[in-house]
Amino acid sequence: DVTATKGNEFEDYFLKRELLMGIYEKGFERPSPIQEESIPIALTGSDILARAKNGTGKTAAFCIPALEKIDQDNNAIQVVILVPTRELALQTSQVCKELGKHLKIQVMVTTGGTSLKDDIVRLYQPVHLLVGTPGRILDLTKKGVCILKDCSMLIMDELQINQSIIFCNSVNRVELLAKKITELGYSCFYIHAKMLQDHRNRVFHDFRNGACRNLVCTDLFTRGIDIQAVNVVINFDFPKNSETYLHRVGRSGRFGHLGLAVNLITYEDRFNLYRIEQELGTEIKPIPPQIDQTIY
Ligand code: ADP
Ligand code: MG
Repeated sequence: DVTATKGNEFEDYFLKRELLMGIYEKGFERPSPIQEESIPIALTGSDILARAKNGTGKTAAFCIPALEKIDQDNNAIQVVILVPTRELALQTSQVCKELGKHLKIQVMVTTGGTSLKDDIVRLYQPVHLLVGTPGRILDLTKKGVCILKDCSMLIMDELQINQSIIFCNSVNRVELLAKKITELGYSCFYIHAKMLQDHRNRVFHDFRNGACRNLVCTDLFTRGIDIQAVNVVINFDFPKNSETYLHRVGRSGRFGHLGLAVNLITYEDRFNLYRIEQELGTEIKPIPPQIDQTIY
């Protein structure tokens, strides 16, 4: 139940009357727990990193402070909401429009896969709140048509961060690689079977919370882990069989996000490679000279 809360009311936040009307007309009677936690802080202008389960009301948790903060008399983009897909952009803009129904706030949606020219034309009209995907917004900004000098609030929804899992075939190799990566000045966590369970859980929990972008590990964790932010799997050591391969690469690109698996293959791995390709009916291609970074 999204409304099982500490007992705060939307009135407690001293919102504009028009915004409060929109909230109540949308059928929200009281703030949900994530809204109680985040709205008062967001209204002070502080940075927030919030996490809560699906369906707990995160959209309104950021839309309400965004709508409250916008100065309707300043015809400039003041809030940008970055989302990963067009569907989510449309859905989010709809929530903003509904909550802001009685405000005079112009919301624009801009995502890849639609006419860039239409977006450029649209930007000649007032826009207060821009919802879209990062690639298109970057495009429009570079072209100088999307001007963000009055933007004081940036919201990222479901973009959380990109993470990678790097697999090695033994405990020693995990420790060696983690040491090497750290020496090179990159941060990484590592997990292997010889670590105490408590310690492993702690590292895993921190990784899941985004405390670090890279995790080096053995096959210990390949089954059943589910970290949405992992979109790159690197087989530093190539796996010995197709089942392990599948479990490893299945860690990336879940829930409809594109994932990338990179295999480092030695001469000795070639027979394993052929066999795994054959068993899985797939082709593991050489890395192309250029990777389209906007896809991943
Ligand atoms: P999340 O992004 O956390 O997965 P949503 O923002 O999509 O969740 O909200 C889930 C549902 O809860 C939506 O139908 C939304 O209208 C509803 N909702 C959000 N806040 C409240 C509230 N304070 N009271 C009642 N319903 C709410
Ligand atoms: Mg959401």
